[in-house]
Amino acid sequence: MSQLRSSDHVIVVGAGLAGWRFVESLRAEGFQGAITLVGDEPYAPYDRPPLSKQVLTGKWEVEEATLASPQQLAESGATLRLGVRANQLDVEATSVRLADDSLLVGTHVVLATGSRARPLSFAASGALATLRNRDDLVHLDGVIGSLGPGSAAAVIGGGFVGAEVATSMKARGLTPIVLEAAERPLIAALGEEASTWLLPLAANAEVELRTNQRLDDVRKVNRGFILDFDDGTDLPAKMVLAAVGSSLDLGWLANSGLTLDDGVVVDRDLQAAPQVAAIGDVARFVLRSAIGDEAIRVEHWQIATEHAGELAHFWMSGERASHVMVPYFWSDQYGEKIQMLGHPHPSDEVVIVSGSPEEGRWLALYSRDRLISGVLSLSHPRHLALAKPLLESPIALDDALRRAPWLA
Ligand SMILES: Cc1cc2nc3c(=O)[nH]c(=O)nc-3n(C[C@H](O)[C@H](O)[C@H](O)COP(=O)(O)OP(=O)(O)OC[C@H]3O[C@@H](n4cnc5c(N)ncnc54)[C@H](O)[C@@H]3O)c2cc1C
Repeated sequence: MSQLRSSDHVIVVGAGLAGWRFVESLRAEGFQGAITLVGDEPYAPYDRPPLSKQVLTGKWEVEEATLASPQQLAESGATLRLGVRANQLDVEATSVRLADDSLLVGTHVVLATGSRARPLSFAASGALATLRNRDDLVHLDGVIGSLGPGSAAAVIGGGFVGAEVATSMKARGLTPIVLEAAERPLIAALGEEASTWLLPLAANAEVELRTNQRLDDVRKVNRGFILDFDDGTDLPAKMVLAAVGSSLDLGWLANSGLTLDDGVVVDRDLQAAPQVAAIGDVARFVLRSAIGDEAIRVEHWQIATEHAGELAHFWMSGERASHVMVPYFWSDQYGEKIQMLGHPHPSDEVVIVSGSPEEGRWLALYSRDRLISGVLSLSHPRHLALAKPLLESPIALDDALRRAPWLA
């Protein structure tokens, strides 16, 4: 890998968290060449986590979620191409064709296109609210604001975004009803046991959660929606949010020659091809965990940020990152904070080591083949922080229990 020179031109596709942090990191590393930042949304880069939390509850204006002030944008010296989609990538030529038919020819391309809300295929799908971007937020906020107190709002999906939006809806006086297809929310992400410990959160916050829900259809009617279930029952609701996870928009890369496999596949240095890299939610990257390398794709704010810094450093210095990565994710839902370190598999063993579900706060350790693979906490941030070293080198569960760093 030859290092970037000031005669180079880096095209960044995707003006979200990873794309913008990459621009910042590249300048911080001293890059003086040309940068073009392409984003299909018309807005300056902004942060998504506050959308379902501070912004939806009205604590923040949507503008407060911005990542880059006009001054920071100007100081970056990047050419902004906002409100226009990248439609085609030529890997050999490191060029990108935009939807307005303009052709950007660079020396390097970074793909930072994130993910989008997974659509549902019901009769009323086009009329269902989702929450992935700023336009979704403005629409959702408007719908919530137009409804009277106590109005029923169906939330399809009890995962992270569904639970956060239901919490915000409740705070704004609606009656959210969360419809989860599985036996419990978050089983697929956190495993059987942890999802059981988290099950009471909704009820404690007086939010109705219905599990094992099999939806046949969602229909638009005069005064809202009807949700039809496969057991013949139905549920009327004034509004419906579809929060059933994300999907990737990789169609435009189909003929690029890049390896696509639920993400853009990149190597240990985030390279998808010579001079072409992928970072953030869209990248299937190699996680350097203490217990071994693993190719994964995650939608974590912290990983998008870390990728950006790592790639900028690699392209500027040629130095490969080798430190252990400790993924971090948080979610504020039902008045509590869920935080996770590491990348545990749902089938890993998990044990609570401090607090308890009855107390409403706890810390749990995941292990795989007796080695610590993750730490999960409910509203116990200090203990979580103290447990982080357990993921920085391979540590046996017995050892971790003996050391109990969270008690320090
Ligand atoms: C509502 C919500 C709440 C969240 N809360 C949390 C949380 O509490 N904790 C946490 O860790 N993570 C959270 N996340 C996840 C976190 O926001 C993401 O991991 C992060 O935004 C990923 O950054 P990214 O740059 O990869 O993608 P994004 O931030 O999605 O940015 C990608 C950008 O690329 C644009 N784009 C896509 N295709 C093209 C194209 N072809 N041409 C041009 N532009 C394109 C997209 O429109 C978008 O603007 C949340 C996400 C959402 C939606």
